[in-house]
Amino acid sequence: MRGRDGVPAPRAGWAYFFDVDGTLAEFAPTPAEVRLDAGVLAGLRRLHERSGGAVALVSGRSIADVDSIFHSPLPVAGQHGLERRDARGVLYRREPSPGALDAARVRLAEVVARHAGLLLEDKGLTLALHYRRAPALAAFSHRTMRAIQRELGSAYATQPGKCVVELKPASMDKGVAVTDFLREAPFMGRIAVFVGDDATDEHGFAVVNALGGHTIKVGGGPTTARWRLASVAAVSAWMAELSKA
Ligand SMILES: [Mg+2]
Repeated sequence: MRGRDGVPAPRAGWAYFFDVDGTLAEFAPTPAEVRLDAGVLAGLRRLHERSGGAVALVSGRSIADVDSIFHSPLPVAGQHGLERRDARGVLYRREPSPGALDAARVRLAEVVARHAGLLLEDKGLTLALHYRRAPALAAFSHRTMRAIQRELGSAYATQPGKCVVELKPASMDKGVAVTDFLREAPFMGRIAVFVGDDATDEHGFAVVNALGGHTIKVGGGPTTARWRLASVAAVSAWMAELSKA
């Protein structure tokens, strides 16, 4: 796969939605070890400035976690959109049923304690079970999460990702988060662009495809995105094309 063949260069009048891990930052053995390249941050800030603030991050991470990586209060949807900070800095939080995950949290802590290499990421409204350091436990991790989801019922869903499986409310995904932003200034009325690398980003791609925007998949694998960029470095290079436009 080559760099950024065919992907239209970014324009100041568009609205941008970026996933974080695997899209703007390379993966690390654990989520806490992920660092942002200075060039990516500079490109993102320039895009934010030139587009009149129409750049949002859409991540599975919590907003607090995203902020600790970017050191910059960009509009952001965290935990797949369950929490969101709009372009004015106003915070929104959706919690379908408080306390619903309490039993699941305890059970997953027990599972992680008994299986070396597994990591539980408690994001408050969602729970993630990471097996990047124990790939042999992939099937076991997915099986465990599906069993816990069945006990919680249809209000919750499992979300598979790269070396991770998450438990989250079924009513929220990145596509819903994008539509939340697109109802507001400065995103409203613009051509939307969604850039992501993983299964959870397909929800964002579906919404942006339906709106006639540009969807960009980072790396390989099946996707409904219209365009493809090879890597995090290719995303950074693509963002830099804005200055030439
Ligand atoms: Mg990702």
